[in-house]
Amino acid sequence: MLKGIGVSQGYGIGKAVVIKDISLDYSAVKYTDAEDQKNRLHSAVEKYTEDTKQLAQEVRKSAGDKEAEILEGHLMMLQDPFMLSQMDDNIDSGATAEAAANTVCTMFIDMFSGVDDELTRQRASDVKDIRDNLLRLLLGIQCVDISAVPKGSVLVAKDFTPSMTSRINKDNVAAIVTEVGGVTSHSAILARAMGIPAVLSVANASNIISDSQELIVDGFKGKIITEPNRSLLDEYLQKQKEYLKEKESLTQYFSKATVTKGGVVKKVYGNIGKAEDAQNVLQNGGEGIGLFRTEFLFMDREHEPTEEEQFEAYSTVAKAMDGKEVIIRTLDIGGDKAVDYLSIDKEENPFLGHRAIRYCLDNSDIFKKQIRAILRAAQYGDIKVMLPLVTTVDEVRRAKDIIAKCAEELKKEGLSYKQVPVGVMIETPSAALISDLLAKEAAFFSIGTNDLTGYVMAVDRGNAKVSGLYDVFQPSVLRAIEMTIKNAKAAGIPVGMCGEAASDSRLIPLLVEWGLDEFSVSPSSILQTRKNICHCD
Ligand code: PEP
Ligand code: MG
Repeated sequence: MLKGIGVSQGYGIGKAVVIKDISLDYSAVKYTDAEDQKNRLHSAVEKYTEDTKQLAQEVRKSAGDKEAEILEGHLMMLQDPFMLSQMDDNIDSGATAEAAANTVCTMFIDMFSGVDDELTRQRASDVKDIRDNLLRLLLGIQCVDISAVPKGSVLVAKDFTPSMTSRINKDNVAAIVTEVGGVTSHSAILARAMGIPAVLSVANASNIISDSQELIVDGFKGKIITEPNRSLLDEYLQKQKEYLKEKESLTQYFSKATVTKGGVVKKVYGNIGKAEDAQNVLQNGGEGIGLFRTEFLFMDREHEPTEEEQFEAYSTVAKAMDGKEVIIRTLDIGGDKAVDYLSIDKEENPFLGHRAIRYCLDNSDIFKKQIRAILRAAQYGDIKVMLPLVTTVDEVRRAKDIIAKCAEELKKEGLSYKQVPVGVMIETPSAALISDLLAKEAAFFSIGTNDLTGYVMAVDRGNAKVSGLYDVFQPSVLRAIEMTIKNAKAAGIPVGMCGEAASDSRLIPLLVEWGLDEFSVSPSSILQTRKNICHCD
């Protein structure tokens, strides 16, 4: 049996699909002669062209013209005679097909990356894709196509990047296992959003587990049973059946208002990381979106998303939610959320460093692009903005000034937009302690217990030796939560919670007692949270 951290509930029973990190190291490939190397290169280009044409056709059907055109753009670049003839010239000078492809593509990547125009810079990532695919074909490396794994697959990997997760077909994936991460890491958040059982931080999982091995993944207890015998398999099939039955019984809460026994109505919202997740929130009975983690739009790509791309994402969510509240959190990067191209300096203590609202206030060009996109999208629904990692009143005032400036600029440019209420996340001890002062500046509060717990308890969540202290039930954390709710009530502003603790059945009665208005949880926990609130006095 293997142990890890159970981060997404449920039992996954199926066959392992191990996704190994692939190495594109070609140093062992020997040069034969020019003709042979050119033949190898040209066959790889031909195969790449065929595969990409086919993929573009499939993508056109499933995702639309825009996505297909990106792939067709790759083909056009590769068909540019200059690119291929440069590779052939390299081979004539003694390079292997791999080295020729790498050298020429890297030259284009460097050239495009240095240009000040967003569209040209995008082309650098296209060429990177071409280079990696050509090398993969030349080296004969087979890649697992995550989107096409058979039903009942248990995906095992070191970690999942957002782009890997976006290719997961939740109907075919029985469970997810990774070597790193914990309850609040992004793979966990995405697994819960998709309702897939997941166990993270399983040491060396992708080496210990082999492809096609039969696995039981227990997302409650954080354990993985390899090659289970018949009786274990039966036991877990039964547990799975009961769990699914219990889940089914929650559907009675789907379209009812969430009302406590004392007759108080509460709102239960969903947390999302990408525009498509809005559907997931609706399908799970969410009454709004309490946290849109916009950093996902910025992660796992080569360049910052444009204002237009962001506008597209925010307005898609607003339209999908059809008038229901959508709380968009401004860019929260730094700490555990790395974005290479934003050139965030390496820091000794990144969790106490230049992150979230601090970074945005110092990089107002990036912040303004996001705010402009949000204001423009606000015309399509009930959008609100929320500022992460606030520690001072001044930060909120400065952010609000920038937001007001963006509105003025849009007006001058004749672009339509709507003003949005600005709320504050309470996720630092400082914010909780001055929540009476912040309440005068904020349209609403949302308590981020994931960070609040870590900062109040001075605990590094990644350090197993102190992880016992990472506990929302410590009196200091509870006091910070209670104080925040009290100060919001006194100022007459709504207060919600969007950290994982909002769905903790043991905490919900206290939160109800203190008067929390809105609970924003993973889509898969919405109905259970509604039930738990309805059972409160
Ligand atoms: C939090 O800190 O509670 C929160 C919701 O934000 P994140 O988990 O994205 O840091
Ligand atoms: Mg946080």
